[in-house]
Amino acid sequence: MNWQGLIGHESQKQGFERLLKKGRLGQAYLFTGPAGVGKRRLAKTFCASLLCLKHAAKPELGLCGDCESCALCERDSHPDLLTVAKPEDKSEFPVKLMNEFRHLFYLKPMVSQKKVAILDDADFLNPESANSFLKTLEEPPPGMVVFLIGERPEKQLQTILSRCQQIPFGPLSPEEMDRISGDALRFAPEWKWAKWASGGSIASARAMTTAPFWALVDRVFRLLARQVKLDATLAEDLIHLAESAGNTGALQRPLLLDFLRALSRTGSHFLGPKLPGDPLEDSHPPWVKEVQPALSRPKILRLLETLEKSGEQIERYIPLALGMAWFAEELHQLAEV
Ligand SMILES: [Zn+2]
Repeated sequence: MNWQGLIGHESQKQGFERLLKKGRLGQAYLFTGPAGVGKRRLAKTFCASLLCLKHAAKPELGLCGDCESCALCERDSHPDLLTVAKPEDKSEFPVKLMNEFRHLFYLKPMVSQKKVAILDDADFLNPESANSFLKTLEEPPPGMVVFLIGERPEKQLQTILSRCQQIPFGPLSPEEMDRISGDALRFAPEWKWAKWASGGSIASARAMTTAPFWALVDRVFRLLARQVKLDATLAEDLIHLAESAGNTGALQRPLLLDFLRALSRTGSHFLGPKLPGDPLEDSHPPWVKEVQPALSRPKILRLLETLEKSGEQIERYIPLALGMAWFAEELHQLAEV
Protein backbone atom coordinates (compact mmCIF):
# COMPACT_ATOMS: atom_id res chain seq x y z
CA MET A 1 0.00 0.00 0.00
CA ASN A 2 1.52 3.32 -1.03
CA TRP A 3 0.57 6.61 -2.64
CA GLN A 4 2.82 6.14 -5.64
CA GLY A 5 0.97 2.97 -6.61
CA LEU A 6 -2.42 4.69 -6.64
CA ILE A 7 -3.23 5.55 -10.23
CA GLY A 8 -6.01 7.97 -11.17
CA HIS A 9 -8.29 10.29 -9.21
CA GLU A 10 -5.63 13.00 -8.95
CA SER A 11 -8.07 15.81 -8.14
CA GLN A 12 -9.50 13.85 -5.19
CA LYS A 13 -6.01 13.18 -3.82
CA GLN A 14 -4.97 16.80 -4.25
CA GLY A 15 -8.19 17.95 -2.55
CA PHE A 16 -7.37 15.86 0.52
CA GLU A 17 -3.80 17.06 0.52
CA ARG A 18 -5.00 20.68 0.57
CA LEU A 19 -7.37 19.94 3.48
CA LEU A 20 -4.54 18.31 5.44
CA LYS A 21 -2.20 21.23 4.81
CA LYS A 22 -4.83 23.67 6.05
CA GLY A 23 -5.64 21.42 9.01
CA ARG A 24 -9.25 21.30 7.88
CA LEU A 25 -9.87 17.62 7.44
CA GLY A 26 -13.55 16.82 8.06
CA GLN A 27 -15.12 13.93 9.94
CA ALA A 28 -17.05 12.14 7.25
CA TYR A 29 -16.57 11.76 3.51
CA LEU A 30 -18.93 9.97 1.17
CA PHE A 31 -17.21 8.54 -1.90
CA THR A 32 -19.61 7.88 -4.78
CA GLY A 33 -19.05 6.63 -8.32
CA PRO A 34 -18.79 3.45 -10.35
CA ALA A 35 -17.69 0.22 -8.68
CA GLY A 36 -14.17 -0.97 -9.24
CA VAL A 37 -12.47 2.36 -9.94
CA GLY A 38 -10.44 2.46 -6.71
CA LYS A 39 -12.61 4.34 -4.19
CA ARG A 40 -12.07 1.83 -1.38
CA ARG A 41 -8.39 1.53 -2.14
CA LEU A 42 -7.97 5.29 -1.93
CA ALA A 43 -9.94 5.40 1.35
CA LYS A 44 -7.76 2.60 2.78
CA THR A 45 -4.55 4.33 1.78
CA PHE A 46 -5.84 7.57 3.20
CA CYS A 47 -6.70 5.82 6.48
CA ALA A 48 -3.23 4.24 6.56
CA SER A 49 -1.58 7.63 6.24
CA LEU A 50 -3.76 9.10 9.01
CA LEU A 51 -2.69 6.20 11.24
CA CYS A 52 1.01 5.92 10.25
CA LEU A 53 3.13 6.42 13.37
CA LYS A 54 5.80 8.39 11.50
CA HIS A 55 3.58 10.32 9.14
CA ALA A 56 0.32 11.07 10.91
CA ALA A 57 1.46 14.37 12.38
CA LYS A 58 2.69 15.73 9.04
CA PRO A 59 0.31 17.91 7.02
CA GLU A 60 0.63 15.82 3.86
CA LEU A 61 -0.49 12.52 2.43
CA GLY A 62 2.03 9.77 2.87
CA LEU A 63 2.95 6.71 4.84
CA CYS A 64 6.28 5.33 5.90
CA GLY A 65 5.43 1.75 5.02
CA ASP A 66 7.49 0.21 7.81
CA CYS A 67 6.05 1.26 11.18
CA GLU A 68 3.83 -1.07 13.19
CA SER A 69 0.73 0.79 12.02
CA CYS A 70 1.63 0.54 8.33
CA ALA A 71 2.39 -3.18 8.72
CA LEU A 72 -1.01 -3.75 10.35
CA CYS A 73 -2.79 -1.78 7.61
CA GLU A 74 -1.02 -3.83 4.98
CA ARG A 75 -2.33 -7.02 6.62
CA ASP A 76 -5.85 -5.58 7.00
CA SER A 77 -5.65 -6.09 10.74
CA HIS A 78 -5.17 -2.61 12.22
CA PRO A 79 -7.31 -2.39 15.36
CA ASP A 80 -7.81 1.38 14.85
CA LEU A 81 -9.01 1.04 11.27
CA LEU A 82 -12.61 -0.01 11.62
CA THR A 83 -14.50 -1.43 8.68
CA VAL A 84 -18.08 -2.45 8.24
CA ALA A 85 -20.24 -3.53 5.32
CA LYS A 86 -23.79 -4.68 4.74
CA PRO A 87 -24.11 -8.42 5.36
CA GLU A 88 -24.58 -10.34 2.12
CA ASP A 89 -27.92 -11.82 3.17
CA LYS A 90 -29.49 -8.43 3.97
CA SER A 91 -30.96 -6.01 1.47
CA GLU A 92 -30.44 -3.02 3.80
CA PHE A 93 -27.79 -1.99 6.29
CA PRO A 94 -29.11 -3.24 9.67
CA VAL A 95 -29.33 -0.64 12.44
CA LYS A 96 -28.14 -3.22 14.99
CA LEU A 97 -24.88 -3.68 13.08
CA MET A 98 -24.45 0.09 12.88
CA ASN A 99 -24.97 0.49 16.62
CA GLU A 100 -22.30 -2.14 17.32
CA PHE A 101 -19.96 -0.47 14.85
CA ARG A 102 -20.43 3.00 16.36
CA HIS A 103 -19.61 1.65 19.78
CA LEU A 104 -16.10 0.72 18.58
CA PHE A 105 -15.34 4.36 17.82
CA TYR A 106 -15.40 5.28 21.47
CA LEU A 107 -12.83 2.69 22.53
CA LYS A 108 -9.32 4.08 22.95
CA PRO A 109 -6.99 3.74 19.95
CA MET A 110 -4.63 0.81 20.47
CA VAL A 111 -1.74 1.45 18.10
CA SER A 112 -2.17 4.87 16.50
CA GLN A 113 -3.31 8.27 17.76
CA LYS A 114 -6.86 8.03 16.49
CA LYS A 115 -9.49 5.79 15.01
CA VAL A 116 -10.53 5.90 11.38
CA ALA A 117 -13.22 3.93 9.62
CA ILE A 118 -14.50 2.72 6.28
CA LEU A 119 -18.21 2.15 5.94
CA ASP A 120 -18.92 0.14 2.83
CA ASP A 121 -22.24 -0.25 1.00
CA ALA A 122 -23.44 3.25 1.88
CA ASP A 123 -26.08 2.84 -0.88
CA PHE A 124 -27.88 0.43 1.44
CA LEU A 125 -28.19 2.57 4.56
CA ASN A 126 -31.82 2.88 5.61
CA PRO A 127 -33.12 5.84 7.66
CA GLU A 128 -32.55 3.97 10.97
CA SER A 129 -28.97 2.89 10.30
CA ALA A 130 -28.14 6.29 8.77
CA ASN A 131 -29.48 8.10 11.83
CA SER A 132 -27.56 5.79 14.11
CA PHE A 133 -24.37 6.59 12.19
CA LEU A 134 -25.08 10.34 12.21
CA LYS A 135 -25.27 10.30 16.02
CA THR A 136 -21.52 9.55 15.95
CA LEU A 137 -20.97 12.80 14.10
CA GLU A 138 -22.81 14.75 16.80
CA GLU A 139 -20.40 13.58 19.49
CA PRO A 140 -17.37 12.44 17.58
CA PRO A 141 -14.37 10.85 19.27
CA PRO A 142 -11.25 13.07 18.87
CA GLY A 143 -9.72 13.00 15.39
CA MET A 144 -12.25 10.54 13.98
CA VAL A 145 -12.50 10.33 10.18
CA VAL A 146 -14.99 8.07 8.42
CA PHE A 147 -15.11 7.23 4.74
CA LEU A 148 -18.44 6.03 3.43
CA ILE A 149 -18.25 4.14 0.15
CA GLY A 150 -21.26 4.13 -2.14
CA GLU A 151 -21.91 4.04 -5.84
CA ARG A 152 -24.98 6.01 -6.81
CA PRO A 153 -25.52 9.54 -5.54
CA GLU A 154 -29.28 9.13 -6.07
CA LYS A 155 -29.35 6.26 -3.57
CA GLN A 156 -27.92 8.39 -0.76
CA LEU A 157 -30.23 9.61 1.97
CA GLN A 158 -30.61 13.34 2.39
CA THR A 159 -29.50 13.08 6.02
CA ILE A 160 -26.21 11.50 4.94
CA LEU A 161 -25.66 13.97 2.11
CA SER A 162 -26.21 16.90 4.45
CA ARG A 163 -23.70 15.69 7.06
CA CYS A 164 -21.00 14.06 4.96
CA GLN A 165 -18.95 15.70 2.30
CA GLN A 166 -19.57 13.98 -1.01
CA ILE A 167 -16.56 13.21 -3.18
CA PRO A 168 -17.64 11.97 -6.62
CA PHE A 169 -15.40 9.58 -8.53
CA GLY A 170 -15.48 9.05 -12.29
CA PRO A 171 -14.39 6.12 -14.42
CA LEU A 172 -10.70 5.48 -14.99
CA SER A 173 -9.31 6.58 -18.34
CA PRO A 174 -8.14 3.89 -20.80
CA GLU A 175 -4.54 5.04 -20.19
CA GLU A 176 -4.94 4.75 -16.41
CA MET A 177 -6.42 1.28 -16.85
CA ASP A 178 -3.42 0.27 -18.97
CA ARG A 179 -1.07 1.49 -16.25
CA ILE A 180 -2.95 -0.36 -13.49
CA SER A 181 -3.50 -3.57 -15.47
CA GLY A 182 0.05 -4.88 -15.69
CA ASP A 183 1.53 -6.61 -18.74
CA ALA A 184 -0.32 -9.90 -18.40
CA LEU A 185 -3.67 -8.18 -18.84
CA ARG A 186 -2.60 -5.41 -21.15
CA PHE A 187 -1.45 -7.84 -23.80
CA ALA A 188 -4.36 -10.26 -23.39
CA PRO A 189 -6.40 -10.52 -26.62
CA GLU A 190 -9.63 -9.44 -24.91
CA TRP A 191 -8.15 -6.51 -22.98
CA LYS A 192 -9.09 -3.71 -25.35
CA TRP A 193 -12.65 -4.94 -25.63
CA ALA A 194 -12.96 -5.60 -21.89
CA LYS A 195 -11.54 -2.19 -21.05
CA TRP A 196 -14.19 -0.55 -23.21
CA ALA A 197 -17.06 -2.79 -22.05
CA SER A 198 -16.17 -2.18 -18.40
CA GLY A 199 -16.87 1.53 -18.73
CA GLY A 200 -13.70 2.50 -16.87
CA SER A 201 -13.85 0.03 -13.99
CA ILE A 202 -10.59 -1.85 -13.53
CA ALA A 203 -12.28 -4.51 -11.39
CA SER A 204 -14.86 -5.17 -14.12
CA ALA A 205 -12.27 -5.15 -16.89
CA ARG A 206 -10.20 -7.71 -14.97
CA ALA A 207 -13.25 -9.92 -14.51
CA MET A 208 -14.08 -9.57 -18.18
CA THR A 209 -10.66 -10.61 -19.41
CA THR A 210 -11.14 -14.32 -19.03
CA ALA A 211 -11.80 -16.94 -21.66
CA PRO A 212 -14.94 -18.40 -19.99
CA PHE A 213 -16.47 -14.93 -19.76
CA TRP A 214 -16.11 -14.17 -23.45
CA ALA A 215 -17.03 -17.72 -24.45
CA LEU A 216 -20.40 -17.10 -22.78
CA VAL A 217 -20.83 -13.64 -24.34
CA ASP A 218 -20.11 -15.27 -27.70
CA ARG A 219 -22.58 -18.05 -26.94
CA VAL A 220 -25.40 -15.66 -26.04
CA PHE A 221 -25.01 -13.70 -29.27
CA ARG A 222 -24.73 -16.87 -31.35
CA LEU A 223 -27.87 -18.17 -29.67
CA LEU A 224 -29.71 -14.98 -30.62
CA ALA A 225 -28.31 -15.18 -34.15
CA ARG A 226 -29.48 -18.84 -34.26
CA GLN A 227 -25.99 -20.04 -34.99
CA VAL A 228 -26.06 -22.44 -32.08
CA LYS A 229 -28.92 -24.60 -30.88
CA LEU A 230 -31.03 -23.69 -27.90
CA ASP A 231 -29.71 -25.58 -24.94
CA ALA A 232 -30.80 -26.29 -21.43
CA THR A 233 -27.44 -25.69 -19.82
CA LEU A 234 -27.10 -21.93 -20.37
CA ALA A 235 -28.48 -20.90 -16.95
CA GLU A 236 -26.29 -23.48 -15.25
CA ASP A 237 -23.20 -22.30 -17.13
CA LEU A 238 -23.93 -18.70 -16.14
CA ILE A 239 -24.03 -19.80 -12.52
CA HIS A 240 -20.72 -21.64 -12.99
CA LEU A 241 -19.24 -18.42 -14.33
CA ALA A 242 -20.55 -16.54 -11.28
CA GLU A 243 -19.07 -19.18 -8.99
CA SER A 244 -15.65 -18.60 -10.52
CA ALA A 245 -15.68 -15.24 -8.66
CA GLY A 246 -15.97 -16.95 -5.27
CA ASN A 247 -18.41 -18.82 -3.11
CA THR A 248 -20.52 -15.95 -1.81
CA GLY A 249 -23.26 -13.96 -3.48
CA ALA A 250 -21.30 -10.80 -2.65
CA LEU A 251 -18.58 -11.93 -5.07
CA GLN A 252 -20.85 -13.62 -7.60
CA ARG A 253 -23.37 -10.82 -8.17
CA PRO A 254 -20.84 -8.25 -9.46
CA LEU A 255 -19.49 -10.77 -11.98
CA LEU A 256 -22.98 -11.47 -13.33
CA LEU A 257 -23.66 -7.72 -13.50
CA ASP A 258 -20.40 -7.35 -15.43
CA PHE A 259 -21.56 -10.10 -17.75
CA LEU A 260 -24.88 -8.37 -18.41
CA ARG A 261 -23.05 -5.06 -18.90
CA ALA A 262 -20.68 -6.61 -21.45
CA LEU A 263 -23.68 -7.97 -23.40
CA SER A 264 -25.46 -4.66 -23.15
CA ARG A 265 -22.53 -2.55 -24.28
CA THR A 266 -21.80 -4.95 -27.13
CA GLY A 267 -25.48 -4.92 -28.16
CA SER A 268 -25.57 -1.12 -28.06
CA HIS A 269 -22.40 -1.05 -30.11
CA PHE A 270 -24.14 -3.12 -32.80
CA LEU A 271 -26.94 -0.55 -32.92
CA GLY A 272 -24.93 2.63 -32.92
CA PRO A 273 -23.24 4.37 -35.81
CA LYS A 274 -19.61 3.44 -36.06
CA LEU A 275 -17.64 6.54 -35.26
CA PRO A 276 -14.21 7.28 -36.60
CA GLY A 277 -11.60 6.11 -34.12
CA ASP A 278 -14.02 3.54 -32.71
CA PRO A 279 -11.82 1.74 -30.19
CA LEU A 280 -13.31 -1.57 -31.18
CA GLU A 281 -12.99 -1.62 -34.94
CA ASP A 282 -9.49 -3.01 -34.87
CA SER A 283 -10.06 -5.31 -31.92
CA HIS A 284 -13.35 -7.04 -32.65
CA PRO A 285 -13.33 -10.58 -31.35
CA PRO A 286 -13.91 -12.80 -34.43
CA TRP A 287 -17.47 -13.71 -33.42
CA VAL A 288 -18.65 -10.11 -33.66
CA LYS A 289 -18.40 -10.03 -37.46
CA GLU A 290 -20.09 -13.41 -37.65
CA VAL A 291 -23.12 -12.65 -35.49
CA GLN A 292 -23.76 -8.97 -36.11
CA PRO A 293 -25.41 -9.35 -39.55
CA ALA A 294 -27.82 -11.95 -38.15
CA LEU A 295 -29.15 -9.69 -35.39
CA SER A 296 -32.02 -7.39 -36.28
CA ARG A 297 -32.42 -4.02 -34.60
CA PRO A 298 -35.69 -5.00 -32.81
CA LYS A 299 -34.00 -8.13 -31.51
CA ILE A 300 -31.10 -6.15 -30.06
CA LEU A 301 -33.48 -3.61 -28.54
CA ARG A 302 -35.38 -6.42 -26.85
CA LEU A 303 -32.13 -7.91 -25.68
CA LEU A 304 -31.16 -4.59 -24.07
CA GLU A 305 -34.51 -4.48 -22.25
CA THR A 306 -34.06 -8.04 -21.02
CA LEU A 307 -30.55 -7.24 -19.80
CA GLU A 308 -31.80 -4.25 -17.88
CA LYS A 309 -34.53 -6.28 -16.18
CA SER A 310 -32.12 -9.06 -15.34
CA GLY A 311 -29.67 -6.56 -13.85
CA GLU A 312 -32.44 -5.08 -11.70
CA GLN A 313 -33.33 -8.54 -10.41
CA ILE A 314 -29.73 -9.23 -9.43
CA GLU A 315 -29.49 -5.88 -7.69
CA ARG A 316 -32.72 -6.65 -5.83
CA TYR A 317 -31.00 -9.74 -4.43
CA ILE A 318 -33.17 -12.41 -5.96
CA PRO A 319 -31.48 -15.83 -5.76
CA LEU A 320 -28.97 -15.99 -8.59
CA ALA A 321 -30.07 -19.41 -9.84
CA LEU A 322 -33.62 -18.09 -10.21
CA GLY A 323 -32.43 -14.92 -11.94
CA MET A 324 -30.27 -16.78 -14.43
CA ALA A 325 -33.02 -19.31 -15.17
CA TRP A 326 -35.33 -16.40 -16.03
CA PHE A 327 -32.65 -14.75 -18.13
CA ALA A 328 -31.89 -17.93 -20.10
CA GLU A 329 -35.60 -18.51 -20.73
CA GLU A 330 -36.02 -14.94 -22.02
CA LEU A 331 -33.03 -15.40 -24.32
CA HIS A 332 -34.49 -18.59 -25.71
CA GLN A 333 -37.76 -16.83 -26.47
CA LEU A 334 -35.89 -13.93 -28.00
CA ALA A 335 -33.92 -16.27 -30.24
CA GLU A 336 -37.21 -17.52 -31.73
CA VAL A 337 -38.35 -14.01 -32.71
ZN1 LIG B 1 4.02 4.06 8.90
